[in-house]
Amino acid sequence: MGFDRKTILEWLEAFAGTVEQNRDFLTQLDAAIGDADHGANMDRGFRAVVAKIPQMKDKDIGTILKTTGMTLVSTVGGAAGPLYGTFFLQAGATAAGKTELTPADWLTALEAGVNGVISRGKAAVGDKTMVDALVPALEATRRALDQGKPLQEALDESVAAARKGVHDTIPTVARRGRASYLGARSAGHQDPGATSASMLLAVAAQVHALHERS
Ligand code: ADP
Ligand code: MG
Repeated sequence: MGFDRKTILEWLEAFAGTVEQNRDFLTQLDAAIGDADHGANMDRGFRAVVAKIPQMKDKDIGTILKTTGMTLVSTVGGAAGPLYGTFFLQAGATAAGKTELTPADWLTALEAGVNGVISRGKAAVGDKTMVDALVPALEATRRALDQGKPLQEALDESVAAARKGVHDTIPTVARRGRASYLGARSAGHQDPGATSASMLLAVAAQVHALHERS
């Protein structure tokens, strides 16, 4: 199995719902080590993405992901907008013209997205950013697919890896982004961007599972 455009659009729409439900939680996390706007930023961005779904419906997955990225860049300020925007723009570039992503295509798109975030934000694993969720998720996806596991298993393992990555951000000292201004005081708090990134992957696994069963 893989992702067709309907499932990709469901992913974006369901993630917008998850962000809305977790808006206060994400904002609280950002209040502890940032400026208390991550929930609001993500909610504004993904509301704007959902508003574009009618016009994205008949487009290829590359266009859908690129439109998502451009919408995030133009509606979300701060660090997360350009970083999430880059994730979707780079992932979309690998899916140009495609109406379906095979498991290998999903891995390629995820890898391009994660590499885009890394080259734009210059964060490494351990710097207490979204990279701490994204890189372990990418590695888990690759490992599972290399082992010949079905995509659903790869997605589920990527979610487990992302969640562990989020948990691992708690003790670390931030070296990138606004939280780094706090120095050692950033330790003891979960990173908001890693948290939202792990939700993005969890929703991908959920919609893929639903789609497979139907
Ligand atoms: P801002 O920090 O501008 O207020 P948000 O609050 O929306 O933006 O997003 C903060 C999140 O962005 C952080 O929790 C972190 O995960 C992520 N982030 C910040 N800087 C970077 C970076 N250089 N690389 C990767 N992720 C980053
Ligand atoms: Mg913030």
